[in-house]
Amino acid sequence: MRKDSRAKNPVGHYSGYMPAITVENPLELPKVATPALDQRARRVTSITTAPRGLEGEGFPVRRAFHGISQHDLDPFIHMDQMGEIDYGPGEPKGTPWHPHRGFETVTYMMEGTFLHQDSIGGGGVIENGGTQWMTAGAGILHIERPPDALIDSGGLFHGIQLWVNLPSALKMTTPRYQDIGSHDVKLLTNDNGDAIIRVIAGELGDAKGPGSTHTPITIVHVSLLPGGQLVLPWNPNYNALTYVLAGEGTVGTERTPLHDGQMAVHVDGDFIVLGANETQDSRTHAFEVLILGGQPIKEPVAVYGPFVMNTRAELQQAFEDYEAGRLGQIPAEHI
Ligand code: MN
Repeated sequence: MRKDSRAKNPVGHYSGYMPAITVENPLELPKVATPALDQRARRVTSITTAPRGLEGEGFPVRRAFHGISQHDLDPFIHMDQMGEIDYGPGEPKGTPWHPHRGFETVTYMMEGTFLHQDSIGGGGVIENGGTQWMTAGAGILHIERPPDALIDSGGLFHGIQLWVNLPSALKMTTPRYQDIGSHDVKLLTNDNGDAIIRVIAGELGDAKGPGSTHTPITIVHVSLLPGGQLVLPWNPNYNALTYVLAGEGTVGTERTPLHDGQMAVHVDGDFIVLGANETQDSRTHAFEVLILGGQPIKEPVAVYGPFVMNTRAELQQAFEDYEAGRLGQIPAEHI
């Protein structure tokens, strides 16, 4: 039933551009739970547009959380949409070795390949809808870069990197690395079969995705065909953010327009409403949306570069510990 990324779906829709995971016949998938009659749709309180920037050795990103208050983001700290970019030969870039402390990262690759290696012996290949989870906790060093063959050939790169905060009691927890292949992602559809719903993390209604963060979260990647409507159950205790990876559509019962690079904040309620415009970009075909939420931590947040702590004193300590080599060492056999 699962197909590689360069396949056609049953409605003849070429889905090679975006979805890393697609299916032969969405109607064979389990259906997402429908909200009960007494449940409420979440209200949209803000729409923001992500500015463009450069990360690591200079790969282009969009800063998805720019302009959104920490209150609305909690438990998330930072999110970059990496690409989408079509590199020429020799152009693909990565990051140098760098440290983290006090939070967890989730990296989701829709196109292209990243190699990961870290100072606790974790490492692997992230590609084709795979996800990598890294708990920095007390401290870790890591590197992410395309494989040599891809640097030589160039090609399409598109991913997401999300920072999930840790509560003070877990900031100094033991670092951990989890590699999750695209085949572990839980797939669902809606009644019409015009949505592919990929549960990348956490729970959606009664469906459970792979991966585990210390902080409870849900991450869903939806591809909604032109004209499609979708109602997604959402944990009323979680925050809710919708980010458009590609295409055009609407959010909320009032059908507020949202296009690629924009993020909506949804508050108060039990479900999220999405709609795909009838006409989509010829390159995209579908309304491609990432929906994320989690249990708010409700603690002070102090961020400096790669460290996320509760206080400035803890940031100072993190910097001193890094300088003293206490966040880890680059392995002797390194990429
Ligand atoms: Mn990093």
